[in-house]
Amino acid sequence: MSERGDLVETLTDRLAPLDRELGLAWWESSTDASPDADERRAAADLARREFLADHDAFAAVREQLAAPDDGGEAHTTRALELLADAMVPHQVPAELLRALVDLETAVDARFTAYRADLDGSRVDDNTLLDILRTSNDSGERQAAWEAGKQIGAEVADDVRQLARLRNDAARTLGYRDHFALALATGALDEARLFATLDEVDRLTAAPFTAWKDELDARLAPRFGVDPRDLAPWHLDDPFFQDPPIEGAVDLDPYFADADLEALTRRTFAGLDLDIDPVMQASDLYARDRKNQHAFCIHIDREGDVRVLCNVEANERWADTMLHEFGHAVYDRELDPELPWLLREPAHALTTEGIAMMFGRLVRDPTWLREIAGLDQSTVQELAPRLAAAQRASLLVFARWVLVVTHFERELYANPEADLDTLWWDLVERFQRVRRPAGRHAPDWAAKIHLAVVPVYYQNYLYGELFASQLGEQLRDDHGGLVNAAGAGAHLREHVFAPAAALRWDRFIEQATGRALDARAFARDLEAGPR
Ligand SMILES: [Zn+2]
Repeated sequence: MSERGDLVETLTDRLAPLDRELGLAWWESSTDASPDADERRAAADLARREFLADHDAFAAVREQLAAPDDGGEAHTTRALELLADAMVPHQVPAELLRALVDLETAVDARFTAYRADLDGSRVDDNTLLDILRTSNDSGERQAAWEAGKQIGAEVADDVRQLARLRNDAARTLGYRDHFALALATGALDEARLFATLDEVDRLTAAPFTAWKDELDARLAPRFGVDPRDLAPWHLDDPFFQDPPIEGAVDLDPYFADADLEALTRRTFAGLDLDIDPVMQASDLYARDRKNQHAFCIHIDREGDVRVLCNVEANERWADTMLHEFGHAVYDRELDPELPWLLREPAHALTTEGIAMMFGRLVRDPTWLREIAGLDQSTVQELAPRLAAAQRASLLVFARWVLVVTHFERELYANPEADLDTLWWDLVERFQRVRRPAGRHAPDWAAKIHLAVVPVYYQNYLYGELFASQLGEQLRDDHGGLVNAAGAGAHLREHVFAPAAALRWDRFIEQATGRALDARAFARDLEAGPR
């Protein structure tokens, strides 16, 4: 074997077990939170980061990458590139790395253990969301919304401190700040990203405003207020990530008795994609001392894939189940013959795109009929509203991503800025939601991503574009994603199996026949069922 090949093998032998231990520790601390579990996770995280910080290993990787390619070893070179991107952010002083890991772990543990205080009782997120989805009482809604923001005040100082530490680390590496470092090592170009954000802003501004005005006209009478007095708590989602029922279609009644596990199984079985082993390894229902969010984790890159959810029988969790199992099926179908370092999705944005493409099925008439078992006449009656709801969902989510991505750029540009004001400025500009009069609170810090998954949100936007582009291709070539073995075969062969063998932009070109652009996304925003 070549010198390059030897190096990749040696480093893989060190990294793979560290990665696996971190996955297991992460799973334990998310499903059975305890000080011991947190300690195990912090230790595993540190051990993995210490490997990535190894100066000699990094020097060897760079040396091999700089050496002329001896040809015929594309996978080895790609593995070295991925290693280099993973190692760069860790080439910083050990004490700085340590401080970062400790603080990140501590903040994440507070999010996991936190339960909001609502009128003197401790309540979970699902309880707050239920109130925001169903209550007609403005006072009750305001209390629930404010309770959901309590965690923000608890962690805001720490999130600012994390931003400072991340910036210190980025600057020792010669980057402007952490935002610039994260994009660069994530194979994303900042100028291109903001050009895409501007394009999405242009594409969505007018239809979003028109939709939002109609929404406000429906919400105002429901709550007995003037449209100008509508507050953030009159929307169903605490961050306005999703359209409220009034601006979409209420599918909750159709899911009230649904078995979401069974629906998820049927969805993937119809594509001839096997998720049974993942289902068995997963943790799907709410419990105390359990992470309240949802995620999918590939423990070992050998097929041990698990999903964490807090399922309730409603539309939001139906969407989330399909989303997380979309990640899962991608992980399960990565070509096992590829070198370990390449055995991951091409990019965070491609796996988010796949996950979102599956999540969108919940509002697909064919899926509702064939998988969820709604009768033909019901689906026919719902169809126009489903199309409108799908469009609203894309608009609302895109506007939300604009808020978060612009905010994060500013957060790292100046962690000392008046972030509370900046946040609401962006929310008013992009989401057209007015700040509550006199509110001065770090509402931005209540969003867990800023603390724990920094500079990640742009992947959701690129993911939406990818979901639209790939979804359109699968509709044209295989009639869609419902009971379509051909679509499943295409996904397996051309999207999942290639894993990270190519850089994400080249991969998308190869998988969909053209470079990623916003054209299919723009077509998905046009009115009318498709
Ligand atoms: Zn996801």
